[in-house]
Amino acid sequence: MPGPPAARAEPRRSAVTPTEELRAMSDEHSAHNYHPLPIVVAEADGVWLTDVEGRRYLDMLAAYSAVNFGHRNPRLTAAAKRQMDRVTLVSRAFDHDNFGPFVTELAELCGKDMVLPMNSGAEGVETALKTARKWGYEVKGVPDGQANIVTFEGNFHGRTTTIVSFSTDADAKDSYGPYTPGFRTVPYGDVEALRAAMDGDTVGVLVEPIQGEAGVNVPPSGFLRAVRDLCTANGSLMIADEIQSGLGRTGDTFACEHEGVVPDVYILGKALGGGIVPVSAVVADRDVLGVFRPGQHGSTFGGNPLACAIGREVVAMLKTGEYQERSRTLGAHLHERLGRLPSDIARQIRGRGLWAGVELHGAARPVSERLMELGVLVKETHETTLRLAPPLVIERDELDWALDQLEIALKG
Ligand SMILES: *Cc1c(COP(=O)(O)O)cnc(C)c1O
Repeated sequence: MPGPPAARAEPRRSAVTPTEELRAMSDEHSAHNYHPLPIVVAEADGVWLTDVEGRRYLDMLAAYSAVNFGHRNPRLTAAAKRQMDRVTLVSRAFDHDNFGPFVTELAELCGKDMVLPMNSGAEGVETALKTARKWGYEVKGVPDGQANIVTFEGNFHGRTTTIVSFSTDADAKDSYGPYTPGFRTVPYGDVEALRAAMDGDTVGVLVEPIQGEAGVNVPPSGFLRAVRDLCTANGSLMIADEIQSGLGRTGDTFACEHEGVVPDVYILGKALGGGIVPVSAVVADRDVLGVFRPGQHGSTFGGNPLACAIGREVVAMLKTGEYQERSRTLGAHLHERLGRLPSDIARQIRGRGLWAGVELHGAARPVSERLMELGVLVKETHETTLRLAPPLVIERDELDWALDQLEIALKG
């Protein structure tokens, strides 16, 4: 008697792998606003990702620094799980027992008085822009509707219609007009251009201490100090977008610290949510954030109990200095090894701490793809830059292994 069909030796139905099947679904039903590497992640632990077919990869991107503390960091998942069994959302209509402690502890970490919590980085940037304008009209005395904010070429501050209004990246900006007025954009690192762009109606200067999406662009030494001094002299707010550069990435809590600069306003995001939930915040002193009255700004999810519980744990972890130290020490090793790449392969190496932009002579995408085959995940930014930003929990031998693979991929 023939066995049931299932018991018969079945010919392979098709050559379609789980990866291909899942990628086809994404291709078919997701808007094509990203160009991901052809891998489908199923699990993660620390610096390692596992795909749906059980292959392991070292994550050298860390979700653009949102996973600074590693995937499923046990301290952070424990805090999240504890909170999920208590209360997760009340909205700001009611206070909750993690809100006061979160804003207090984050303000203290930043050396400021006040925190305005939001969710995504773009919301944090929008909040900072609104803060600067409102402060400009109500405190600085700028005539109504006249405020301007200076930004820099190559900036990346998020994707809202206002934020892309001052982008200089055609992909990010084109076809989204009409654009929000009130912004002036000058070359990054150009102090004289900044000075010339500022006037009595300049309420703020919005700056990335190191430009992340632009390719880990480090400004000329002294630039941040000059921005600080010009803002002070002009009575304008220095607004540091530390969403990607902050919270340990460069070897300091904030990238501004490298020049001993304290901005008037910090914008934080990405790693603040511990790689679990989106958490962003604007942090400043009372004379700045004190301009908001009830009803004038807000967010349903901003400062929610789960976000605050995770954010508090992130702040506690940063207070030990351990992650900053890892980034400094391992970052020095990373840059020392990258610096030894022959110049016919790597045109330029930029960055600080465990953060590097490797500028190639040609397209970076094929290198990302070769590295994926070798078990290392990175992502190109723009055409010719590879960005390396591993979780700060990476071990030295893991970093060395990833760099060995990078050398192989670059020579391939
Ligand atoms: C990622 C990023 C943002 C935007 O954050 P989202 O959470 O994606 O909205 C803003 N500024 C900088 C510097 C960033 O790197």
